[in-house]
Amino acid sequence: EKLLEIKNLQKHFNIDRNNVLRAVDGISFDIYKGETFGLVGESGCGKSTAGRTILRLYEATAGEVNFHGENVHAKKSKKELKKFNRSMQMIFQDPYASLNPRMTVKDIIAEGLDIHGLVKSKAERTKRVNELLETVGLNSDHGNRYPHEFSGGQRQRIGIARALAVNPDFIVADEPISALDVSIQAQVVNLLKRLQKERGLTYLFIAHDLSMVKHISDRVGVMYLGSMAEIASSEMLYEEPLHPYTQALLSAIPLPDPEVERSRERIILEGDVPSPINPPSGCRFRTRCPFAMEVCGKVTPESIEHKPEHWVACHLYDDRYNEEYKAKQ
Ligand code: SF4
Ligand code: MG
Repeated sequence: EKLLEIKNLQKHFNIDRNNVLRAVDGISFDIYKGETFGLVGESGCGKSTAGRTILRLYEATAGEVNFHGENVHAKKSKKELKKFNRSMQMIFQDPYASLNPRMTVKDIIAEGLDIHGLVKSKAERTKRVNELLETVGLNSDHGNRYPHEFSGGQRQRIGIARALAVNPDFIVADEPISALDVSIQAQVVNLLKRLQKERGLTYLFIAHDLSMVKHISDRVGVMYLGSMAEIASSEMLYEEPLHPYTQALLSAIPLPDPEVERSRERIILEGDVPSPINPPSGCRFRTRCPFAMEVCGKVTPESIEHKPEHWVACHLYDDRYNEEYKAKQ
């Protein structure tokens, strides 16, 4: 069952009169109810912008985000917008920067309750906050303190409690563990997993590294320079990556077995990611792709379902264009 349907979503920023930054440039994917969809790519590929545009923190330049079948970017009344804001929440990479340092933890967590009028009395408010603190592994004493009194992991727990306060269906977690010590990362991941089970939450989990999303994601989308290169279940993506970019990302992750590690072929990416202000024509990855063909500079690859539920945007898998490649095989 689809919870979200993202259709040809674009988010462009005007840099100055002549330059447009095409941060997200036409991505399409679905997010199913109760799943974790991992969105992966190098920094600057547009994944955070995509997450924010899906939540309507940014207005879309074009495209649709259908949530429970309704386009969140269509014109809405204040009341309808409030309903969306309640159902969709965000957890940020840097919990410190996203928590107001002058507010007590209690008030930070209760902000959504107040805005949406979800509690009727002070006593009820305190009770709800204490429940939320407990849910994320903190206790009621923590409510009267300030964000700076907590460790990074605890601050991320506060951020999670704040997101949960309004009982959302869907949470965008933008690199929620990247800023944390490795020893703390697993704890926060386990907390997110437990909350998902208990509350039937759906996550969009953003990360810059495929190894980070492997264990938490049901399905994964790989972004490159504002476009979607590949979408598959976690298992399929790790076992049989199709897109040369995904193959390169995976071959950069060291394997635990040194024997296998030494003998395998690596795809080393040459050059830097081009600017999203002036992306390459055709396939965006062609300037770094070891398999680039002539057609790659002329035709933008469409996402095709190469195997059931395994989508890839690359001409190598498109029989209209891959003759040159097949001839070499
Ligand atoms: Fe490489 Fe061409 Fe495929 Fe792009 S479309 S990933 S350049 S082979
Ligand atoms: Mg980011």
